[in-house]
Amino acid sequence: MRRVYLDYAATTPTHPDVVKEMVPFLNQEFGNPSSIHTFGREVRKKVEEAREKVAHLIGANPEEIVFTSGGTEADNFALIGIAFANEKKGNHIITSSIEHHAVLEACHFLEKRGFSLTYLPVDKDGLIDPNDVKRAIKNKTILVSLMHANNEIGTIEPIAEIGKIVKEKGIYFHTDAVQTAGILDVNVNDLKVDLLALSAHKFYGPKGVGALYIRKGTRMVPFIHGGHQERRRRAGTENTSGIIGLGKAAEIAQETKEKEAKRLRELRDYMIKEIFNQIENVRLNGHPIQRLPGNINVSIEFVEGESLLLNLDLAGIAASSGSACTSDTLEPSHVLKAIGVPIQVAHGSIRFTLGKWTTKEDIDYTLEKLVETVKKLRSISPYQHDWKSTS
Ligand SMILES: *Cc1c(COP(=O)(O)O)cnc(C)c1O
Repeated sequence: MRRVYLDYAATTPTHPDVVKEMVPFLNQEFGNPSSIHTFGREVRKKVEEAREKVAHLIGANPEEIVFTSGGTEADNFALIGIAFANEKKGNHIITSSIEHHAVLEACHFLEKRGFSLTYLPVDKDGLIDPNDVKRAIKNKTILVSLMHANNEIGTIEPIAEIGKIVKEKGIYFHTDAVQTAGILDVNVNDLKVDLLALSAHKFYGPKGVGALYIRKGTRMVPFIHGGHQERRRRAGTENTSGIIGLGKAAEIAQETKEKEAKRLRELRDYMIKEIFNQIENVRLNGHPIQRLPGNINVSIEFVEGESLLLNLDLAGIAASSGSACTSDTLEPSHVLKAIGVPIQVAHGSIRFTLGKWTTKEDIDYTLEKLVETVKKLRSISPYQHDWKSTS
């Protein structure tokens, strides 16, 4: 059976060249980078090279990069690190209602400890209005945290424009760039951010490693306490093979991302067009243009997203329900809710995310199976009369 992986926003396969780069650091090059003997020094050199590559990818200086266990830790570190270090200045933090749970749950944690949070709304395409940010800023605001692009609906936010507003007020600005780093052009100075989270496994690196960019001079408390690693900002013996893999993934991304994004945009737009051509009563979730190159999120009325997913899985196709992180509950995703998708429609949502190894043949096969499955599910749907009468 043909197998088609269209869930690149959940995770990506590790690039073979990344694996090749990592393997020696899992066996013979096992030194601790903090050791002063040759075993340690050789690994230290490679870790610092990886830091340079990650810094280069986002237009930062190597000293501004702190390696973490991934995007979740980088987001938690940014929010909690800034909040605890600046609580004398103020207790107000601004974020949005469509952030990843790594940001939202860190915000809830801070809320329980006396911080005051503003969750900005988004428009029907998932865009944050920079004027809303301006209006939400108070004297007590210490941090604004807004994602660069949304993992569910793919909308790319106007971070540079918002950065200008936040910077003028002298407030720290964090962006969760886990969906864009290594995929789009991401530059910390263009975006005017003080903190930026990225994760290796979203751009063909290994899982369990990421980084937080911290602009020089930013007041932060360390997140993990212990040894003096990472200039005392993040204790613990480094995940050396992971960090070296992240560095290699950053290097590959630097060289390939532009061409790859162009290829994916074309495949994405082809798939969206064909879904609309071949299936009635569909809506595209997320912005039609300001959108991640590989993201397709649609609500297909009068079908149940979970049944759709299971049927596609039986045909060898891996996609995700519109509500990726909450698929164990029946609650529609907070993102679809925020853009105003009615609950009934939200339940028929499906996300396809394309990547490096996706081909036109994969898309044609998926379209064929999708159309077939929707037809089948609608023929047994209790709502079929409703939709036949309205279409
Ligand atoms: C995947 C993801 C994260 C979490 O990153 P991990 O490395 O899996 O912890 C955070 N934010 C966004 C937008 C993501 O897509």
